[in-house]
Amino acid sequence: MTSQTQIQNQKPPINHREANSTTTTSATSTGRKQWSIHDFEIGKPLGKGKFGRVYLAREVKSKFIVALKIIFKEQIEKHGLYNQLRREMEIQFNLQHPNVLRLYGWFHDDQRIVLILEYAHGGELYRHLRKSGSFSEKQAATYIASLTQALAYCHEKHVIHRDIKPENLLLDHEGRLKIADFGWSVQLKSESKRMTMCGTLDYLAPEMVEEKAHDYAVDNWTLGVLCYELLYGVPPFEAESQKDTFRRIMKVDLSFPSCPIVSPEAKDLISRLLVKDSTKRLSLKEILEHPWVVQNAEWSQV
Ligand code: AMP
Repeated sequence: MTSQTQIQNQKPPINHREANSTTTTSATSTGRKQWSIHDFEIGKPLGKGKFGRVYLAREVKSKFIVALKIIFKEQIEKHGLYNQLRREMEIQFNLQHPNVLRLYGWFHDDQRIVLILEYAHGGELYRHLRKSGSFSEKQAATYIASLTQALAYCHEKHVIHRDIKPENLLLDHEGRLKIADFGWSVQLKSESKRMTMCGTLDYLAPEMVEEKAHDYAVDNWTLGVLCYELLYGVPPFEAESQKDTFRRIMKVDLSFPSCPIVSPEAKDLISRLLVKDSTKRLSLKEILEHPWVVQNAEWSQV
């Protein structure tokens, strides 16, 4: 890593906000501080992503525990993802909600960009789901309520997430859900719509499959897909090939297996979210008022 002086003399690749931030928690509470790797004791590896590794770390002075995501610039440049990463970091940095993983700040050296993230002790929701096969209705409703609240906050800030799925959700030490990955998110300037087809195959909304303009309602669709996967252990439109998955999404070819047994109220919520006409999907407010969510969510865990 370059020394702190070198970092200060360099123009940061993203922007200067890590140096000016006064809104961050104790990890960055010294205000104008420029971070470097020497400010952290690096602990065990937490995981490996497409473009780098994540480590448990402790800020030396405050002892504040964080996760450091180390991303290799070469990889980002090679895949032309520089702007996407910049957008992801700016969006996540500006979101502060109990169900959104905090990005406290970042720094870089010649080879690496390091993100200082909130540590999510429980790890990926995906891993828990694969381990248990499917979740109870209480657990699923609690996660759906948490996520709906987080998405309502994001939408208020004009951010569409566009890639909700179990792999992008982490759990903290109390099991509270955190949206962790904003790689496909976008901040809309006004009531405009977007055209880019993005996200993950099984979770794509019909308007994205058709490459039509889309808006916030794509996140409501993915909440329906997620709710189904949490309860049944598989996504609703799974098929042998991409073409078949797309065909099933376009037809909204939705069926509910007899096993595991799932309540009619849960199926009702899913059916009201997996609606082809995006204007007819339940709103986030209506999800939070839906009887299945109201009766099953453990609100102290949301
Ligand atoms: P990513 O590069 O974001 O895909 O992260 C790779 C893996 O590291 C994830 O699948 C998680 O298991 C783990 N991980 C990422 N961020 C955190 C975090 N903030 N706290 C705990 N584990 C994390």
